[in-house]
Amino acid sequence: MNIALIAHDKKKELMVQFCIAYCGILSRHNLCATGTTGKLVSEATGLNIQKYLSGAQGGDEQICARISCNEIDLLLYFRDPITPQPNEVNLLRLCDVHNIPVATNIATAEALIHSLEHGDLDWRDIVNPTRI
Ligand code: PGA
Repeated sequence: MNIALIAHDKKKELMVQFCIAYCGILSRHNLCATGTTGKLVSEATGLNIQKYLSGAQGGDEQICARISCNEIDLLLYFRDPITPQPNEVNLLRLCDVHNIPVATNIATAEALIHSLEHGDLDWRDIVNPTRI
């Protein structure tokens, strides 16, 4: 599965801790992330992560493009509810358009990561068997 990671500044430490906790599961999938999130997570975990530009420089849009091409199977998007970011609406809209499971908080992320581990998201392979 192709998993995208994005964390707003106030949620980056939470994302790092989440990825440390679930490193074993995440290591069996293809990971990508916005620049700073990817850098922090890979430094803390040693996970191999394809890093896009930082969110401010267009990394969110790069992940939006991959979602639009149906190349993302799961988005872990730890957003700061107090400080909404400009691309938030579009990211979530595209996940709805393409029926991509998305977690915007750690409770949902944990539920999805367990579903992933149990094979409950394998229907993504049926939806698009040719995806990269
Ligand atoms: P960043 O981008 O990982 O490069 O900080 C995330 C964001 O859009 O805030």
